[in-house]
Amino acid sequence: MSAGRRILYVEDDISSRMLVKQVLKAAGYKVVEAEDGMAGIRLAQETRPDLILMDINMPGLDGYAAATKIKGMPGLANTPIIAMTANVVEGDRERALTAGCDGYLAKPIDVDALPGQINEFLGGRRDHVDEEAERSYLREHSQRLVDRLEEQVAALTRSDAMKSRFIAIAAHELRTPVTIIRGYLDILQDPAGPVSEANPEATVLLEGIFNGVRRLHEIVEDMLDVTRIEAKTLDLRVAPVRLDDAAKKAVDLHLESAKQRNLNLKLEPMETLPTIWGDGVRIQQILGHLISNAIKFTPDGGSVTVSGRIVNKKQQNDIMAATQPLDDKYVEIIVTDTGIGIDQSEKDRIFDQFYEVRDPSLHSTSKTDFMGGGAGLGLAITRGVAEAHGGWVWVESEGHDPERCPGSRFHMVLPMGTPPD
Ligand code: ADP
Repeated sequence: MSAGRRILYVEDDISSRMLVKQVLKAAGYKVVEAEDGMAGIRLAQETRPDLILMDINMPGLDGYAAATKIKGMPGLANTPIIAMTANVVEGDRERALTAGCDGYLAKPIDVDALPGQINEFLGGRRDHVDEEAERSYLREHSQRLVDRLEEQVAALTRSDAMKSRFIAIAAHELRTPVTIIRGYLDILQDPAGPVSEANPEATVLLEGIFNGVRRLHEIVEDMLDVTRIEAKTLDLRVAPVRLDDAAKKAVDLHLESAKQRNLNLKLEPMETLPTIWGDGVRIQQILGHLISNAIKFTPDGGSVTVSGRIVNKKQQNDIMAATQPLDDKYVEIIVTDTGIGIDQSEKDRIFDQFYEVRDPSLHSTSKTDFMGGGAGLGLAITRGVAEAHGGWVWVESEGHDPERCPGSRFHMVLPMGTPPD
């Protein structure tokens, strides 16, 4: 009966694992070990065991929750799960059975009896609780799951707040020295300064340092922007903005890098777009982010086009139209590229802070190289600035395919706005 049957043993205590493994192996079973509930769930799916021995008291996800999860997974509903607990409290057996286990063994394990007990469950034995007890333990089980969830949400909220605090402090602390270095570099680069053009080697070295520091400065500013957006303290300097001007300035700043990458960066006529009320510097900043991303994620030889239009309900994408109140008072700037495109499942997440589709350790850090990486903040800032204006951003793409390059279209929608008080 036992020969070759696979037992998954989920247990955090290493000495129990060693003991049970020895006993089961001696009885002819194959044993797979998992050291906690999460690993248990993963290994249940991967190894398809014939039976699962589940310790109940484990840190993190406990045995009750792991059993409930495993019973609901495709192909595992009929795999017997046997719960095991030490320090037995009244109702442990019923709790385990209610959570989805099929049997129950109290610890310490009786090593002589264990192989026989397992054999019985493999042979079809299933323990049950009566209906009334099941109902009350089910309520208790749900309550415990909700309590745990609550604890975990609280822990995540605390760690998210710590992360935000860390970014805010790091950015503030870095900003001063970076500004000082930039100031001294400006003096050094002045043609009439101590390092004059008569010293070409030093000039080249200085330029290298200057570019590095400028990039560092941009990253620090991006971190500060993210902090402000999160704290809802982003200050908009609202004034009339001509979107054709803002778009032209953003495009002009990227012409050189587009040329280096042999990309056709085009600006379609936008003179007919109305002047809106907003923060022109910020709008230009986020258009710059969209253009720089389009350049980064489009292979050499492709094209990036910036266009604009007035949008009304009919022209908008259905989902946006359903969730956003729209009248004719919106303008939209679209950055279209012929790049690698974006997978359906990533379309929302790319707007999250520090989110990058690829593994950040694999990319080269550059603002314009093909697939060059950044800090993953550009789109979070773009969304934050658009939302601070009462607008939004979204992306259209057929999918991600670096070979076929289906391209992406980023839409930045802004309201006409109103003059400041
Ligand atoms: P970063 O560019 O610094 O990585 P972003 O927030 O600007 O951060 O972008 C997040 C991710 O979204 C990028 O890493 C990339 O995977 C994806 N992405 C952004 N723009 C494009 C685009 N035009 N085409 C394809 N993927 C894009």
